[in-house]
Amino acid sequence: AKQQGRNRFNYFAPFMQEATRVRMNLVNELREAVQRDQLRIMYQPIIDLANGAIVKAEALVRWQHPTRGLLNPAEFIAVAESSGMITGIGDWVFRQAAREVQKLQALSSPAFQVGVNKSAWQFHDDGSNYQEWLDFLQELKLSPHSIIIEVTENLLLETANNNSDRVLAFQHAHMQLSLDDFGSGHCSVAFLKRFAIDYIKIDPAFIHQGNDGMLICEAIIAMAHKLGIKVIAEGIETPQQLTALTAAGCDFGQGYLFSKPISGEELEKQLQKQCSP
Ligand code: C2E
Ligand code: CA
Ligand code: CA
Ligand code: CA
Repeated sequence: AKQQGRNRFNYFAPFMQEATRVRMNLVNELREAVQRDQLRIMYQPIIDLANGAIVKAEALVRWQHPTRGLLNPAEFIAVAESSGMITGIGDWVFRQAAREVQKLQALSSPAFQVGVNKSAWQFHDDGSNYQEWLDFLQELKLSPHSIIIEVTENLLLETANNNSDRVLAFQHAHMQLSLDDFGSGHCSVAFLKRFAIDYIKIDPAFIHQGNDGMLICEAIIAMAHKLGIKVIAEGIETPQQLTALTAAGCDFGQGYLFSKPISGEELEKQLQKQCSP
């Protein structure tokens, strides 16, 4: 460790150049990945805590890298955002998720929903893709309610300051809105009504914090329910967490306790099992 400490300073300047080179490579590789169809979507089941059934899923993007294996979004979403590629990737994720939800609804119920993450960078476009997305859902004969758009508090804050019209546009488009990682950002509670939020996803940090965290979860759930908003708890890893959240009246759960993210095919199999007793 001592040796590493010394080297860190010696190699600082070359390291910076190296970082730029690595980033440029990653941008080029990601561009190729999109063209060569190397992106994948995994679906993490979301469970109705009242009866244990899988009733929704979250679409999570992966990169099947030719040499580095399956990469998590942490390794490439930031580069996708800063290079502007996130818009194209986001559209692709949406379309894939919509095709998948069509199959999942046929296997379970027309009420089955898939959540799609939308980052702030995707709003820097002109926002006209809502209409394209709605048209696509209509082509597939899906209700706009089939898709939940997951946004963060910071995105709402930024949108409220700059271009709230665009977010409001998709309220009118009737897709559902979920507020991701609730409690980790700087969102005014007033926004919950202003943006007609349908779901709150409690930040997993509160669920992993023990008793104090659970008190905060209880308060969030009570407030959400008063406002007519349903609550999804993310990152449920233990039976104890599940018991406490169920007792607090939480509506839906997601986490490794139930399932890690799985392929669309695997999720279809699970729904088939669930629906044929
Ligand atoms: P997120 O939206 O908060 O997604 C939840 C993350 O928690 C996922 O990580 C999921 O695999 C992980 N997770 C699920 N259950 C558990 C659990 O029980 N314990 C723990 N510790 N973690 C759990 P993932 O798939 O690596 O995604 C990371 C983030 O990347 C996502 O966070 C989301 O912000 C972003 N992301 C993923 N897909 C997309 C996409 O298509 N578009 C955009 N813009 N962002 C995406
Ligand atoms: Ca999310
Ligand atoms: Ca989250
Ligand atoms: Ca709404």
